[in-house]
Amino acid sequence: MPKQRSIRQSIITISLLAVALCHSTNAQADMVSDSVPVKASKFMAATANPYATEAALEILREGGSAVDAAIAVQMVLTLVEPQSSGIGGGGFMLHFDSLTGETVAYDGREKAPASTSETMFLRANGEPMGWYEAVVGGLSVGVPGVVRMLEMAHQDHGKLPWDRLFQPAIDLARAGFPVSDRMNYLSAADTYLKTFESTAQYFFDAAGAPHPVGTIVKNPELAQTLEMIAGGGADAFYTGPLAETITQTVQNAPLNPTMMTTADMAAYTAVRRQAVCSPYRSYIVCGMPPPSSGGITTLQILGILESFPMPHLRPGSMLSSHLIAEASRLAFADRNHYLADSDVTPHPDGMIDPGYLRDRAKLIKMVEATPNAQPGNPGGIQETHLAPDSADKGLSTTHFSIVDGDGNVVSMTSSIETQFGSRLMTSGFLLNNQLTDFAWIPKKDGKPVANRPEAGKRPRSSMSPTLVFDHDGRFVMAVGSPGGSSIIGYVTKTLIATLDWKLNIQQAIDLPHVLNKNGATRIEAGTPMETLKPVLDGMGHEVEMREMTSGLQGIWITPDGTLEGGVDPRREGVAAGD
Ligand code: GLU
Repeated sequence: MPKQRSIRQSIITISLLAVALCHSTNAQADMVSDSVPVKASKFMAATANPYATEAALEILREGGSAVDAAIAVQMVLTLVEPQSSGIGGGGFMLHFDSLTGETVAYDGREKAPASTSETMFLRANGEPMGWYEAVVGGLSVGVPGVVRMLEMAHQDHGKLPWDRLFQPAIDLARAGFPVSDRMNYLSAADTYLKTFESTAQYFFDAAGAPHPVGTIVKNPELAQTLEMIAGGGADAFYTGPLAETITQTVQNAPLNPTMMTTADMAAYTAVRRQAVCSPYRSYIVCGMPPPSSGGITTLQILGILESFPMPHLRPGSMLSSHLIAEASRLAFADRNHYLADSDVTPHPDGMIDPGYLRDRAKLIKMVEATPNAQPGNPGGIQETHLAPDSADKGLSTTHFSIVDGDGNVVSMTSSIETQFGSRLMTSGFLLNNQLTDFAWIPKKDGKPVANRPEAGKRPRSSMSPTLVFDHDGRFVMAVGSPGGSSIIGYVTKTLIATLDWKLNIQQAIDLPHVLNKNGATRIEAGTPMETLKPVLDGMGHEVEMREMTSGLQGIWITPDGTLEGGVDPRREGVAAGD
């Protein structure tokens, strides 16, 4: 570096550090909330809705396993949080077995029907479709995966009978549940929810107004569907009358009808996968492998940050925020370039190799942003593909964390993709629009894009159900969030806040967000984090202040075995336990 530039750089550094110091005395104090977590000694569930948490507790009190409780939770969420997840969608579950010490990743991601073509999201003139042009209707619907995945997990880890786990949702669907603030707000705000008659009839009253908060809504059709699955297992969903009705709904959709067939339904398989795990300081962090980009990208960010003294920096400080943004930028450059459904397009082997990540960390400058990070060369397969980042709406999807009485743990993120998915409703539930998570433009510079649509393929996800262990393999924390590709930033922040800054799980979830997806540095609007804008601007970050509706639900276990639950104040979650 020429001498003059280096003097200039030093002056900038000193000024920025001075600003940061002032900042830390003023705004810093407000950055960390004084919230305390919910505590329990035997078992706990943290979900996005009080009825779902209650269902989990009912099952756990009967001696049910974490997987049993997860099934009950998912069925209740299909009813009470229909905008986010359900049996018409897909999900990922990380499971820790306290007896064997084994962690397994269950993949219930939607699959593209056999009729899928790589140009499915292109108009006749070759231009990509508009977002809602593609989302609403049959085109975006992937073969749902949640039911098959839950059955697989139940075969491995269930204690109570399968049909018992459906009872809370069936009873509630018949008796009715009160419409929540969020369901009301999202139905009122959604321009597309009235597109299809049967969906409109369910979400709006006779005058076409969304049901007011607290209105008791019944869903006998869903109750009947759940009874069929309770009695007939996942086969009752993937074959027979339900599969027939689902495919008819897609094929006869008034908008974008497509050929999802009963053969596509019958062919769906869930997959047991090896979780991706890496050490982070004295902990082991495990995440979801592809088709989710969540695990690898989170572990890359942490692996890069391991080169920096994060535990000595302060939550929400200029330096910690800069480093998180820069590490995320580098990780997203790799994610966008390499990750897709690895059963179809394998990724390079060395993506979370500590040596590779140490080299990536050297690209970070302490007081200067590096816009437009380039993907690295982690070794192994070298393909060129760049997948545009889709689905960053962050209004749907759900995460729940459960610890049962035997210490088994579930961390599960589940989704119908955007709020209300494809807006197609059938047999009492909504169908997903998960296929829009594919890259819409299948070729870049004449080369195939890894995450392009292909028959039988799973679209790349960002969902990041996460489990943390201590160096002896003892469970420490379960966490995850909705939020599209921002999920990765929300989860990473919570990991740093708990593992490095020793905040309790509730404080860690509350902490304002800062993230970067290899573009603008986003800070959470309406929080003390806004005070960082001038200083980050000065370092060359393009700062965007955004509302960030994460939905983090986490459970931490203290060394004396106390379970501590935290839920996201940005949504409607409840943690509870005995
Ligand atoms: N479809 C997204 C994914 O799988 C999740 C959507 C959301 O969280 O809003 O990454």
